[in-house]
Amino acid sequence: MSEQNNDHLVEVRGLKKYFQVQEGFFSGGLSRSNLFVQAVDGVDFDIRRGEVLGLAGESGSGKTTIGRLVLRLLEPTEGTIWFDGVDLNALSTDDMRRMRRRMQLIFQDPFASLNPRMRIGESIGHGHKIHYGTSPAERRQAVEEIMEHVGLTPARTLYEKYPHQLSGGQRQRAVIARALVTQPDLIVADEPIAMADVSVRALLLDLMIRLKNEYNLTYLFITHDLATAKYICDRIGILYLGKLVETGFLPDVYGSPSHPYTRALLSAVPVPDPDSRHQKTLPRGEIPNPINPPAGCRFHPRCPLAIDICSQVEPELRPVLGTPTHLAACHLTTGDYQA
Ligand code: SF4
Repeated sequence: MSEQNNDHLVEVRGLKKYFQVQEGFFSGGLSRSNLFVQAVDGVDFDIRRGEVLGLAGESGSGKTTIGRLVLRLLEPTEGTIWFDGVDLNALSTDDMRRMRRRMQLIFQDPFASLNPRMRIGESIGHGHKIHYGTSPAERRQAVEEIMEHVGLTPARTLYEKYPHQLSGGQRQRAVIARALVTQPDLIVADEPIAMADVSVRALLLDLMIRLKNEYNLTYLFITHDLATAKYICDRIGILYLGKLVETGFLPDVYGSPSHPYTRALLSAVPVPDPDSRHQKTLPRGEIPNPINPPAGCRFHPRCPLAIDICSQVEPELRPVLGTPTHLAACHLTTGDYQA
């Protein structure tokens, strides 16, 4: 990339990740050694400094894989990821390790991601030790400060606890504290409230918003839940079978969804009104096999508006008429074809 936009903390171009399918994974006696799951298949997006970009889609859409690619926890098959003007693919292992201080991950399952034999304070401080080489006393002070900040109080007492001695909400706060302790710029939050009790989900989202503002953070927020995304995201990308099908600012995408898949996902968001005649219209059928995705528009086997061209020509992500920051990949939204 020759020109970097200084407003963008992250720039992703042409990102692909194919996973080779293990031989013998499928029955039938055929050799499968040259088959690949196309988990991410040519994705472009930017994350502006200080914003929350959501990536949403069903299971198997590729959103979690993209999160791990952005952190270079996975190597891309193709494509580039620029972080603050640096091509991550070009970094040595040591340089990438140093860069990782600035980019952290919040996992979906805090219980699985915290070492059960480590005290909470030690788990939170582990990254501080690695990246700053601090003394135990300095580390303890930094950890207790961050624990207080995320609501793990009294920090001095909770520091000594083990994960099983905390509530689910406290464990998720510990995972957030662990991500913050290295003073990152970017946090990839992968379904960060999905395992939390419903009663504390809004509190955790409010906490993430407050921390973003206080620490000048940028979030890549991965979720299957468009109601959660609406609460926290500034912009959103809708993923389907490894490709972005719609992107834009929340008022545009939620107010005027252009892609039939986005409309279906939004129509399935529960409405908190018992008198509502709201209809759930999830896309018909299952998400297709990512080893052999449908030709043309990948959504065409499930799309209620599909026309002949849809099974033959893949639609490009293009501006929705009159809105340059709102893009959709659908032949009908480009105005070239009529239903
Ligand atoms: Fe449906 Fe065709 Fe649009 Fe794909 S391109 S979403 S199949 S109308």
